[in-house]
Amino acid sequence: MFKVLSFLLLCSFLFSNKYYINTLNQYGINKNPIQNESFNVSTYHKIEDGENLLLILQKLSIPESIYYEQNAEIRESTEEIRQNFSYYVLRDVQSNDIQQVLIQLNSELQFHIYKENGEFVAKMTPIEYIYKTKEIAINIENSIYQDFVNYDESFSTLAEELRSAFNKTVDFKKELRKDDTLSLIYEDRYRLGDNVLSPRILASRLDTFRKSYYIFYNPKDERYYDEKAVMLEGFFLKSPLRHYRRISSRFSRKRFHPIKKVYRAHHGVDYSASTGTRIYSARKGKIKFVGRRGGYGKTIIITHQDGYKTLYAHLSRYSTSLRVGKYVKKGQYIGRVGNTGSSTGPHLHFGLYKKNRAVNPLGFVRLRKKKLRGKSLKEFKRYTKLYKKQMDDIKNKLNVYAYQNSNIVVDIL
Ligand SMILES: [Zn+2]
Repeated sequence: MFKVLSFLLLCSFLFSNKYYINTLNQYGINKNPIQNESFNVSTYHKIEDGENLLLILQKLSIPESIYYEQNAEIRESTEEIRQNFSYYVLRDVQSNDIQQVLIQLNSELQFHIYKENGEFVAKMTPIEYIYKTKEIAINIENSIYQDFVNYDESFSTLAEELRSAFNKTVDFKKELRKDDTLSLIYEDRYRLGDNVLSPRILASRLDTFRKSYYIFYNPKDERYYDEKAVMLEGFFLKSPLRHYRRISSRFSRKRFHPIKKVYRAHHGVDYSASTGTRIYSARKGKIKFVGRRGGYGKTIIITHQDGYKTLYAHLSRYSTSLRVGKYVKKGQYIGRVGNTGSSTGPHLHFGLYKKNRAVNPLGFVRLRKKKLRGKSLKEFKRYTKLYKKQMDDIKNKLNVYAYQNSNIVVDIL
């Protein structure tokens, strides 16, 4: 049994209801026309399975016109509002009427509903977070997952993240033994007082009886690298089109239009191509969805290994052999380019998701096993040096703690 006799907590969490209501302005809410308003009720909701923006609006009795007034690009991006995401409802102190609703669109942007001259309006605004960097060192007793959960159940997500980050490097079952140590630096992101995103692992070192393994997060491409600056995930996707005119829109979680002064997001890559152009599966997988999906129009979703999914939208037609639950090969014909849903001309919208979060497909389409070079390598060496030093320090603390019979050190920086 894993025992924790003492642990180090350098900073305590300050997030009570009262706290976040008083500091609402930190979260970008003051960037809309309404200021100096006070709210006494701020409620947090998880988006349920099958729920989408229109259903949330119906539930809150907010006119659906605020959705239809948006342009095609924004309507398309709101298709990402779905399970695992959240929204806040802010109500007036006296009347309890809804004043604002903040619906998370991705990790960077929210669909922000507020009142202007007594009427509801909406636009995209950035989500602001409070970041906390934390460190952990642990002497492994049972398994990383078990030890983490025994220490604190809320660490299970972190343990999952860790397992997937080390996935291609270490076989957790075979290679880990009792008394191997793990050092970890990660980041927690809080929004309106809630911890709404999975923790982001910045660096980690696993010292096993055989050798030490490192992983480092590279914020530039959002991928993990080993200590030699070699990318840890080696797979790549086949381009979903063999012929297209050009890439008409790239991936972005938050893009600011300097003239229109609006924020937008684009959860995939648009390939402009003629109606009828053949579309191919980017990787082998299993058909999860075939049908219409709001702003995406005629859509195909395929699930792949390791929690990845690809999405193909605005199609004119599907391959007749396509059935939900059937397997497709990499490069198999699945449908044809079209202009269905919120689309302003024939194109393919191609999306890639890792554990339901949109990631940039282009990084994967062109990827071979990649090693950082030049300027990116120099930058990588600079911050990994700091992380290595930090991990040594926390491991030393673990040695000190071992005298007190503790297997884990937790520091919030
Ligand atoms: Zn698109």
